[in-house]
Amino acid sequence: MSDCLFCKIASGEIKGNIVFEDEHLVAFRDINPQAPMHVLIVPRRHIASLNELDSSDDALVGEMVRRAAAIAKQEGHAEIGYRTVFNCNAGAGQTVFHIHLHVLGGRRFGWPPG
Ligand code: 5GP
Ligand code: ZN
Repeated sequence: MSDCLFCKIASGEIKGNIVFEDEHLVAFRDINPQAPMHVLIVPRRHIASLNELDSSDDALVGEMVRRAAAIAKQEGHAEIGYRTVFNCNAGAGQTVFHIHLHVLGGRRFGWPPG
């Protein structure tokens, strides 16, 4: 999608601090980190929100979740724990309408989330 920030980061049109990329996914550091580790994992393909997913996306979402675990492990947070978050739509705080999985680590996380 031509005017989507995360499509532009995924394509390289806008520079991101990239920690992982492959054929389907790109992971980069959040510009406004909420924890010592704050990585966003996005599919290369534009999907606006979780509400637009269908069964053909199951493998892609599985890759996103497994990549979150791999990045947390790589950055040393797997054992103590880390937080993964998908915000869906404005009421939950979604501000960029291209699905992204937040991966946060390096501090304690409260529950319920704010
Ligand atoms: P949301 O609020 O949609 O769940 O998360 C969007 C995230 O994107 C926020 O945590 C915000 O800090 C991050 N973000 C917004 N603009 C940019 C940007 O230009 N580059 C990067 N790396 N992150 C961004
Ligand atoms: Zn997009």
